[in-house]
Amino acid sequence: MPDAVRLARAVAATALTLAAASACSSGGAASSPAATPPAREPAARFAPTDPASTGASPGDGRLEAVYEPGMTKANQREEATLSKNKVLEGIAKYGNDRIRLPYVVGVTAANCGGDGDASWRSFQHEIQFCYEFAESARKIYEKADGRGDGQGKKPSAAQVDDSVAGFTNGIVFHELGHALIDMYDLPATGKEEDAVDQLSVLLLATGDDQHARYALDTSKAWGGFAQADEADGSASKRLEAYAAEHSLNAQRHFNWACWLYGSNPRAHAELVRDKDRPGGALPESRAGSCANEFNRIKKAWTTLLKPYVK
Ligand SMILES: [Zn+2]
Repeated sequence: MPDAVRLARAVAATALTLAAASACSSGGAASSPAATPPAREPAARFAPTDPASTGASPGDGRLEAVYEPGMTKANQREEATLSKNKVLEGIAKYGNDRIRLPYVVGVTAANCGGDGDASWRSFQHEIQFCYEFAESARKIYEKADGRGDGQGKKPSAAQVDDSVAGFTNGIVFHELGHALIDMYDLPATGKEEDAVDQLSVLLLATGDDQHARYALDTSKAWGGFAQADEADGSASKRLEAYAAEHSLNAQRHFNWACWLYGSNPRAHAELVRDKDRPGGALPESRAGSCANEFNRIKKAWTTLLKPYVK
């Protein structure tokens, strides 16, 4: 074996044992740690056997959907719902229609255990979305008043499933942002977590009405997680949230609503809270800057991804 290959393999093996995931938690307050499946070894479904050979040219890759078999009853439910509605396949197609990837990247719905969330697993070439995260979001949507009709009506099971699909889209495209920054070594100023939230909103808001609703679903989930934070606001948890890489759940709720509104203020006027719409998500004090914020987000990501968009 040539020395260069041996060295590359040694470096890759060491790196694998250190850290191979960019975790993206901060929701998940509603999930149940009681149903924790056993920890599993990192999957290597998509990573090549020789990590030194990954320097493929942009355009050779694509997103590919994978559903791990659910290992708990709750996870089996999320697996059944996501796979029946072909949610990951839809995400893969939506991403593949827009962005070139250097290699095959898995979009894997997985058993993570505990307050599982989502992560970009660089060495596995995999975006992992945990069934537990879908379950946490489901609990938020089940408590909400349907699709924001403000009438206090319970949402139908189909509405809840659709909102969970929306949340899954919002989270996976957030992780795709981490993946793109990593794979293409893109620069990011400020908090990377905010930058990739911005990419996710940009991708969803500039598609069809259904994908714009997915951004709204994701905003609502952050709002629900923020309410759970307030109900369980121990000092140590608050400090942890302040210290975390992510913006606070409440901030993410308003950011997602703001950037969606800013993408098309006329189409999303119902998001602004005023005397006619007291149930609107977005205070007027923020709404005024949202179109500007969105335009800058669009310019930044369009510039960064110029060589990689289809
Ligand atoms: Zn993240």
